[in-house]
Amino acid sequence: MDEVKLAIHGGSKVKTTPFGTGKRFGLEEAKELLEALEQNTLFYHFGGKVKRFLGDFNDIYGVKHSVATSSGTAAIHVALGVAGIAVGDEVITSPITDQGTLVGILYQNAIPVFADLDPHTYNLDPKSVEARITPRTKAILVVHLAGNPCDMDAIMAIADKYGLKVIEDCAQSYLSRYKGRLVGTIGDYGCFSTNDFKHISTGDGGIVTINSGSEEDYFRTHAFADKNYQRFGTSVVRDLSFLAPNYRMTELQGAVGIAQLKKLQWICDKRRAYGDRLTAGICDLPGIHPHQVTAGSESSYWFYMLRVDETQLSCTRDEFAEALSAEGISCGAGYISQPVYMQPMFQKKQAYKGSHFPFDLSDCSYDEGLCPNAEEILKSGVRLPVNEFFTEDDVEDMIQGIRKVALYYGASQRAN
Ligand SMILES: *Cc1c(COP(=O)(O)O)cnc(C)c1O
Repeated sequence: MDEVKLAIHGGSKVKTTPFGTGKRFGLEEAKELLEALEQNTLFYHFGGKVKRFLGDFNDIYGVKHSVATSSGTAAIHVALGVAGIAVGDEVITSPITDQGTLVGILYQNAIPVFADLDPHTYNLDPKSVEARITPRTKAILVVHLAGNPCDMDAIMAIADKYGLKVIEDCAQSYLSRYKGRLVGTIGDYGCFSTNDFKHISTGDGGIVTINSGSEEDYFRTHAFADKNYQRFGTSVVRDLSFLAPNYRMTELQGAVGIAQLKKLQWICDKRRAYGDRLTAGICDLPGIHPHQVTAGSESSYWFYMLRVDETQLSCTRDEFAEALSAEGISCGAGYISQPVYMQPMFQKKQAYKGSHFPFDLSDCSYDEGLCPNAEEILKSGVRLPVNEFFTEDDVEDMIQGIRKVALYYGASQRAN
């Protein structure tokens, strides 16, 4: 074997040119924003921008109805609220996710229950989901992590069997397909985020799709995101029969969203090509598990996370990530630091100051070891950014960097 010196040991770096960058916003957004201001109203129900944004979104997704919200977290809360999730209900979800997945569950005074994940797709393992069902279970909140679809056939079959609602957290998964179907259109509701870190941005914002196609379902969702104001044309019914938050989107966000949606296909196509290329370039490496896309699916890679098998390499995961960074390939160790159930809110079972409600309505556990695969994924993952502005050379450099580091530590492991 050639003498390969890692950059971290003073050798030359693999990546000598900067990663590609680009402008996410341009004159298209500016034109829409100006038009929004010229309407002389920024209220979503009087102006045309949020309506157009949703109309375009519905066309792309092939759904009849969707509702705009102020964030992805809000979208998920709205979906849970209209799904009828309330005090003491259990909602089964993923332990590797953004905390925005969990906020709405607890605001509805329901209890998050965590099921384990597939070790290579990092998505809910249907067997573990089924094992966590109790008489309190009312919904499955699937998270299509990092653009990768969950095994929806199995999830929907469980939901049918036990009469559960299914809500899809698609915040990281625009235009991801499961057996040809877009994620977000398969469960009862699909929830999207347009915060500034997602595939498309309106600064902040969110969308809920209503997949039943029912007008009544749509009206209830619309009202739930608008403090239960039921708006019909210019008339409004303010009857208050139960609690609902105000999560309205403004015309400014809608305006930017219209322009952003025009770029969505391109963004997702680029990311899909780059993510799949990474897998093809590293899948033969001993000691490296690529980010596996769910069978029959297409991922739009919000990020790429490979796993390091420390038994096959002479380095730890952290050393691997450091060595790869030294090669000029930016990467991070893991994603969130630990499964969300290890956070103090769950360890102390305290969401509201001075109270253990609603956790005290359930006997669910948040003990370490609850989801062994999820814990292992976060201990062995190395997360690489995927971006539509990267060039093909950037992705080849990423592959060469991973190969150099993995082959070096693989060889020295075998030499020992
Ligand atoms: C970003 C994100 C959310 C929350 O979205 P916000 O718009 O930041 O509220 C929820 N779930 C997942 C998986 C996310 O990545």
